[in-house]
Amino acid sequence: MKKLPTPCIICLMMLTTTVTAQDDKQGLEAAFAAVEPKVIEWRRDIHQHPELSNREFRTAKKVADHLRGLGFDEVRTGIAHTGVVGTLKGAKPGPVIALRADMDALPVREQTGLPFASTVRDEYNGEEVPVMHACGHDTHVAMLMGAAEVLATNRERLAGTVKFIFQPAEEGPPAGEEGGASLMVKEGVLAGLDAPEAILALHVWPNTGGTLAYRSGGFLAAADNLRIKVVGRQTHGSSPWRGVDPIYVAAQIMVALQGIPGRHLDITKGPAVITIGSVHGGVRGNIIPDEVEMVGTIRTFDPETRALLHAKLRSTVRALAEANGATATVTIESYAPVVRNHPELLRKMMPTLRWAAGDDKVMEASLITGAEDFAFYLESIPGLYLMLGVNDPGVASGEAPANHSPFFDANEAALITGVRTLVGFALDYARVAAADKPM
Ligand SMILES: [Zn+2]
Ligand SMILES: [Zn+2]
Repeated sequence: MKKLPTPCIICLMMLTTTVTAQDDKQGLEAAFAAVEPKVIEWRRDIHQHPELSNREFRTAKKVADHLRGLGFDEVRTGIAHTGVVGTLKGAKPGPVIALRADMDALPVREQTGLPFASTVRDEYNGEEVPVMHACGHDTHVAMLMGAAEVLATNRERLAGTVKFIFQPAEEGPPAGEEGGASLMVKEGVLAGLDAPEAILALHVWPNTGGTLAYRSGGFLAAADNLRIKVVGRQTHGSSPWRGVDPIYVAAQIMVALQGIPGRHLDITKGPAVITIGSVHGGVRGNIIPDEVEMVGTIRTFDPETRALLHAKLRSTVRALAEANGATATVTIESYAPVVRNHPELLRKMMPTLRWAAGDDKVMEASLITGAEDFAFYLESIPGLYLMLGVNDPGVASGEAPANHSPFFDANEAALITGVRTLVGFALDYARVAAADKPM
């Protein structure tokens, strides 16, 4: 067994400082208890009034009014369309950090039966659709509003500045529009004199209520949007030899694509997924159409795997089209890079996470093949992305409806853990993470 080094006097002094500084969070229990019913009320109101990506007008106004009412030093609106960034300066000097919540809902018809279920309809890419907070972003906004209230009424505890980033369009902007985290970054939320040096975000998911799940390094997948167009030659369904059948070619492509992760990629470097979620071509059974369009998504965790997958996908599509006398075009657009948690920051903030959720409720998660545009912030600054479990008591992970399901719901009792995590990060970062730079 290795001998532990004898603590030096500086370490002992730091330890003493730590104990004193931890008092920053002590005595906050009354503030959390006071804000909890408000967080639940805000969540229900936002849930009942969901807004699609880049259309978060009511939500943004509610947020901006709240931050102004709390006496924030600055509240900027209209960033990346409907984004709101509030700045709160602590009473003590210290670093600038950011906390982020996404605000948008999805074109899903809510079937939860909740008393505050959404009946909202709106237009999405030219179609009228029902709208629901099926990904739980209503809870994200409410939790960050709660953290804003606790911190604004406890400025004397705060060393440094906190930027509250309420972001539109995490689910992706409507066709033809820009939006989301990449546009927020482009519009300068991480730049300027008061640029944040670290960032935290939470996402709710169907795991044991009140748990915080983390992963060091790569956590959520990189996602690419995929579009394949196969062009053949239209003819009568009774005589396929007179034309080129793009449906037959598309079918071969769909089967062959699944062989790429299975047969051609070194899966020890990380998993990869290709899904074709939409296929369109033809109008009736006795006409072989001119073209077929397939739309899908690609998920990877490793840049080399991602590049190889793209190359193999393109060559496979080209070869199968050529072999059949058709032509095909492949369009791949990046949605988001890998969400990568900063290992050192995660290690240093672990006591804060345990304080927020409880020792037995902080757990390491498996890789998640879902993606998040929070990755764009993490390309610029270190940060943490954590999953907050919101299942009802007694409901195990995997037993509750998933995010994006019309039945997705969050147990509101878990939301205070999210508020505590956001507040704890803001109060502890200066002492824990910035104390011995560089990280
Ligand atoms: Zn989502
Ligand atoms: Zn989401």
